[in-house]
Amino acid sequence: MEQLAIFGGKPVREKQIFYGRQFIDQDDVNAVVETLTSDLITCGPKVTALEKKLCEVTGARYAVVVSNGTAALHLAAMAAGFTEGDEVIVSSITFAASSNCVLYCGAKPVFADIDPETYNIDPASVRKLITPRTKGIVAVDFTGQSVDHDALEAICKEHGLMLIEDAAHAIGTKYKGKPVGSIADMTCFSFHPVKTVTGREGGAITTNDEGLYHRLMRLRTHGITRNPEEMVHPTDAKWYNEQVELGYNYRMTDFQAALLLSQLNKLPKFSARRKELVKKYDEAFADMPEIIVQKEIPESDTTRHLYILRLNLELLTCDRRQFFDALYAENTCPQVHYMPVYYHSYYEKLGYQKGICPNAEKYYDEVMSIPLYYSLTDAEAEDVIHAVKKIVDYYRKS
Ligand SMILES: *Cc1c(COP(=O)(O)O)cnc(C)c1O
Repeated sequence: MEQLAIFGGKPVREKQIFYGRQFIDQDDVNAVVETLTSDLITCGPKVTALEKKLCEVTGARYAVVVSNGTAALHLAAMAAGFTEGDEVIVSSITFAASSNCVLYCGAKPVFADIDPETYNIDPASVRKLITPRTKGIVAVDFTGQSVDHDALEAICKEHGLMLIEDAAHAIGTKYKGKPVGSIADMTCFSFHPVKTVTGREGGAITTNDEGLYHRLMRLRTHGITRNPEEMVHPTDAKWYNEQVELGYNYRMTDFQAALLLSQLNKLPKFSARRKELVKKYDEAFADMPEIIVQKEIPESDTTRHLYILRLNLELLTCDRRQFFDALYAENTCPQVHYMPVYYHSYYEKLGYQKGICPNAEKYYDEVMSIPLYYSLTDAEAEDVIHAVKKIVDYYRKS
């Protein structure tokens, strides 16, 4: 048996690779440089062009581009009308921003458990949490797989709830043939560098509702409007604009929009490569009972953002921490996505207690994300597989 690097053996790889990274080519660089010398360099024509492009990619009627994914979630939660006294049901396995946006509005996040095989929000768990105070759901397309829209829509219709889809992982994914972004009341995207396409930072909200669209546009710029129909004191003075509610400065720069337009041209090839790599990993792990492969959702044609390596701890003598550290030492550096949000000490202080989402808590003890990104080569993916096998061989219960 090969000696593990963590115990002084030779690592599978000499150079470290990480779970995710951006891909920037010369076209991207040129697009940004051109924009630097144009007339409007923030929230100008490139942002408008990006909004049009996002409508094409997602099939949504409207898109509002903002400074990052968290800003997108914040504005969506405001436009949904979440406020003090309201409850909003949120996926428990997600980045904290998915529920922080509910807190920003003074409302209370209520955490739903995950499906134990797909790791997406479980509609049956959502149903059990509904009270007269429930106003909406923030559902995450975890790792890029679409949430169960049919089930969630039925719940929303029955109880008059607003569905915000956190699609930070899911640009390029389709649910029953419809692109993510055209289905929920509002869908939020992130363009952080680890996501499938990047604008350095960036975010967007898509919607088919004209009212929500105008509200989101206004909230993006301080709550200020130039539309006389939205004003309390309308006038035809050319200089006049009016702040009619409290908004923010969540504008994106035109350089970032130019980068994103160039990145979105590559989305089909980004998607295809990610699918290939997922298939390669799935096949390699299919005959290893120590590794549990994430269940594919048949309705979702998925552009995968993360590859989750889940350990079957009953068959191993190590725990997740030991496996993670061993893999790190082999220089294929993983990350964990995610701890249940309510484990964060801030949420603990708000009164959330362990034990509320058993599937999410078990999941968290068993997982890590392994490298998945467009420029990952076959040889690198094989190194990752080799490292996983090496560690499984070492810790396998005999
Ligand atoms: C990345 C991410 C966000 C936040 O996006 P930013 O652009 O980093 O603000 C929100 N939700 C999920 C699920 C994410 O992965």
